[in-house]
Amino acid sequence: MVDLGGVHDRLARNSFTLDEECSHIEVHQEEARRTGAGALLVRICPAHVYSQEPDGSLAVAYAACLECGTCRAVAPPGTLTWHYPRGGYGVTFREG
Ligand code: SF4
Repeated sequence: MVDLGGVHDRLARNSFTLDEECSHIEVHQEEARRTGAGALLVRICPAHVYSQEPDGSLAVAYAACLECGTCRAVAPPGTLTWHYPRGGYGVTFREG
């Protein structure tokens, strides 16, 4: 097993305030399917926010998002709409 220097322990100290009315991530399913973005997003998200459904669509567990911006940076154009959560919602980093 790889020693990550306690990264998992530190991440476990984060807290999340869920905005139940509004996801800050929207996947444009048709474009994601057309570009094959799903496998990329599943692979690169450190919080495992994205998962592929049996029908090939992409599920988004936005409540776990670390707001790192990686998916926003690498997603093919037109596959995602991403913005920071509304004020008072999202992740609060407790360490590091
Ligand atoms: S911003 Fe980072 S943590 Fe959030 S969904 Fe994108 S890759 Fe995952």
